[in-house]
Amino acid sequence: MAARSLIDKLAILADAAKYDASCASSGTATRSSMGQNGPKQGLGSTEGMGICHAYAPDGRCISLLKVLLTNFCIFDCRYCVNRVSSNVDRARFSVSEVVQLTLDFYKRNYIEGLFLSSGIIQSPDYTMEQIVDVARTLREEHQFRGYIHLKTIPEADPLLIARAGELADRVSINVELPKESSLEHFAPEKSQPVIRKAMAGVKLRLDDARDAQANRLIRKAKPPVFAPGGQSTQMIIGADASTDTDILKTSTELYSGYGLRRVYYSAFSPMQDASLDLPPVKPPLMREHRLYQADWLLQFYQFERSEIDASTTNGMLDLDIDPKLAWALRHRSQFPIDVNRAPRHLLLRIPGLGAKTVDRLIEARRMTSIRLADLIKLTKTAKKAMPFIQTADYQPGGLLDTDNLRARFAPPPEQLALAV
Ligand code: SF4
Repeated sequence: MAARSLIDKLAILADAAKYDASCASSGTATRSSMGQNGPKQGLGSTEGMGICHAYAPDGRCISLLKVLLTNFCIFDCRYCVNRVSSNVDRARFSVSEVVQLTLDFYKRNYIEGLFLSSGIIQSPDYTMEQIVDVARTLREEHQFRGYIHLKTIPEADPLLIARAGELADRVSINVELPKESSLEHFAPEKSQPVIRKAMAGVKLRLDDARDAQANRLIRKAKPPVFAPGGQSTQMIIGADASTDTDILKTSTELYSGYGLRRVYYSAFSPMQDASLDLPPVKPPLMREHRLYQADWLLQFYQFERSEIDASTTNGMLDLDIDPKLAWALRHRSQFPIDVNRAPRHLLLRIPGLGAKTVDRLIEARRMTSIRLADLIKLTKTAKKAMPFIQTADYQPGGLLDTDNLRARFAPPPEQLALAV
């Protein structure tokens, strides 16, 4: 086989990396920059790959070169386009090629960091050594201070995963599927206990690094850092029959048990020659979005998982309205909430009011009694909140009890196209 050029490898390995949602700009409409006849006729496509955006620990949005070291893989996870039995075009970078690409792109100001993942070649340890070597070369030989996110392989030696954490800003270990039984079925070479053990190892080292930093004596040398951006994971949605409540149960366990910063939800992408027990169509992108919203309510809005579960139908979140609104519509007796008096945790329950708006509202009401016009100035989604609030000059009256309140917010039903 003729040697591939660097640009060919980049095309293959950046495209292969797009299935990893851990730093994707997901949740937006896909727009292609290709014209109807093929050639490029526009710019700003959201379908592309290669450079993705992520948030640094200090909140900055940064651009990352997102590639696989290789899409060869000895494992046969049936939901994955890179599995050994898949008929995709394959390529492999050397360590020095990834290092050089990262440095070149960085110097041209295209990127501020690297997101590196890989299929498994030879063995998990061998692959992990290569991934670590990329980060080590960048950090120690080139003094690279940019952001590095390394996807680690749970089956690899824990010392290699620990070394990855010493070099990277963030590490992630994919949990892959929400249920252990699904993982056994679709990815027999993987094991949820092994994945969770690797996550627990990373958590221990994160805790140690945090403690060392907290107990650091003034004027003493800085303790070594370990993945200051923490650890994250990705769960594939819609490949198995797990419901949204199953998925949120697993996420809650991962957040509380392993201190994860983020659980990323990635809608399953159907592929050619896939096994027959995988769905032939992609789940709606809105499902991914609703899961992120529910995840947010659990983490930042003081909702309990049982409350989200109770707002689902057969375990599935409502695709037409967001989970906070779905909960509010089922608990109308708890509204209207007086925005001038209610404590923060109740204000967070009002549909249409985000955490930042709630904080601005609490600040504002120290100076003045909030009127409806004030709320409209604070947020563009005041209309959504109106049935659920009272202000100094406004009461929702019978609005809260109307039968068609849900219909005010849900998109109009679409007529199904007839098959011809
Ligand atoms: S180990 Fe990773 S790259 Fe290999 S088949 Fe499984 S999911 Fe795909």
